[in-house]
Amino acid sequence: MQKNDPVIIHVPHASTLIPKEERRHFVTCELERELAVMTDHYCDDLYDTGAEMVRFPISRLICDPERFRDDADESMSEVGMGAVYTKCSDGTPLKNVTKRHREEILRTYYDVHHKRLEDAVLRKLEECGTCLILDGHSFYEKALPYEPDQRQMRPEICIGTDEVHTPKPLADMLCAYFLHKGYTVAVNRPFAGAIVPLRFYRTDPRVHAVMIEVNRGLYMDHDLRKTEGYERVRQDLAEAVEMLREGKW
Ligand SMILES: [Zn+2]
Repeated sequence: MQKNDPVIIHVPHASTLIPKEERRHFVTCELERELAVMTDHYCDDLYDTGAEMVRFPISRLICDPERFRDDADESMSEVGMGAVYTKCSDGTPLKNVTKRHREEILRTYYDVHHKRLEDAVLRKLEECGTCLILDGHSFYEKALPYEPDQRQMRPEICIGTDEVHTPKPLADMLCAYFLHKGYTVAVNRPFAGAIVPLRFYRTDPRVHAVMIEVNRGLYMDHDLRKTEGYERVRQDLAEAVEMLREGKW
């Protein structure tokens, strides 16, 4: 493995941790169900391939670093799922958040995380002259009520791209790779895009980004247990990351 490779793996949704002081703000009786369906279970392990990783340490039900900070920029805020969720994935109330509390959550978790990611990108740019953020996720086998794409036919692997930050050969290579490995693959379906810190967003072409989303039916069951497919997914992701680290695209 190269020492100075440009890859940063970003895992924003794998944690189920809800800090104690935040628990009392939840109003849903379905917190466990919500954690079960919304968490990208095991992704901190599945994508842990030896490349540098920046993972969000708490649950997305507290704060989602993948959303735009300002609700005015974030389309998902219309369904109560901007950077700080107020609604569950089925549209019922999740928690009560005052404006002040929201800002406190954003400062404590969102801003700190984005600074870490931004610093990691800056270091890669200094060391390698370029950076490649691999946004690592998984998704529920069936469309959840909040999701914009309600089509029931879902691929096994979804590659998310950004029109400026994802070079076409990079997306093409990943699609071809997963197809070759026997998966069904779609681009930007059911989820689109890939994270780029605002500081570089649409302004610094040295920062590349791509998202990989794995259909969780490939590796876990509804009791949140790993299935026999787990190791295959893990190994195939590791091989993909290795190619990215070697710049083979
Ligand atoms: Zn995710």
